[in-house]
Amino acid sequence: MAAGPAPEARSLMDEQTFLDNFNNLKYPRKTYLCYKVERLVGENSIPVDEYKGFLRNESSPRRWERRHAEPIFLERMASWNLDTELRYRITVFISWSPCPECADELVKFLRENRHVKLRIFAARIYDWYQGYEAGLRALKAAGAEVAMMTFQEFEYCWKNFVDHQQDEDKPFPSWDNLVVRSEELSQRLAGILQNREE
Ligand SMILES: [Zn+2]
Repeated sequence: MAAGPAPEARSLMDEQTFLDNFNNLKYPRKTYLCYKVERLVGENSIPVDEYKGFLRNESSPRRWERRHAEPIFLERMASWNLDTELRYRITVFISWSPCPECADELVKFLRENRHVKLRIFAARIYDWYQGYEAGLRALKAAGAEVAMMTFQEFEYCWKNFVDHQQDEDKPFPSWDNLVVRSEELSQRLAGILQNREE
């Protein structure tokens, strides 16, 4: 195992950052992305914990210095040099779903890395750019699983990517209407993914 910090050196997100950015009823301007990697062996999946972490987009007053979370993540994945003889599943929990441009980049990655399966769980649908629906459909067509985060994924992230200081068993605090909102978004996503129109 070459790159990547040791699990104990891994940085975790602070609680408020997680709650502010993953709340599916809020509209924060940043994007956070948590990720985990598993090796697929037959029917089993084996966690590869050294490749578990999170990142955020890079914002800047200068447009050319701004970067969305996904290209940063793609760079990070490339640095792992995942063995092409093995099979992997990468799961991403992202606070905003990929924009059309990032969806394209991810599709390209999947075409070039047939040994990698990708699952994307998004807290919210990023509909700022035209073509976002086609981007999400392209991801699905390229074999990625695209879904909205439900209570289960929010709780998973809370347990796995958030720093609880001394209180490791601190339960996920949830927020009002999390489930209702997640269901609404899931229905909207299902409509987007089924629609063949551009
Ligand atoms: Zn993007």
